[in-house]
Amino acid sequence: MLKTLKRWLAGGPRVDYSKVRRNDPCPCGRGNKFKNCCIDKAEKQTRADRDAKLFGSSKG
Ligand SMILES: [Zn+2]
Repeated sequence: MLKTLKRWLAGGPRVDYSKVRRNDPCPCGRGNKFKNCCIDKAEKQTRADRDAKLFGSSKG
């Protein structure tokens, strides 16, 4: 839902997935294991962070 997305973009509970282990309970609070829940999201986030560092933030 857009409302949820907006709220999330507005700075909802930002989770640092890089500190979560695969077998830990997912920090999103759904009660699933991380590897069965938000790990896809986390991997995308991690990759984006890494790419940002690799390529820098300069516009050109
Ligand atoms: Zn989750």
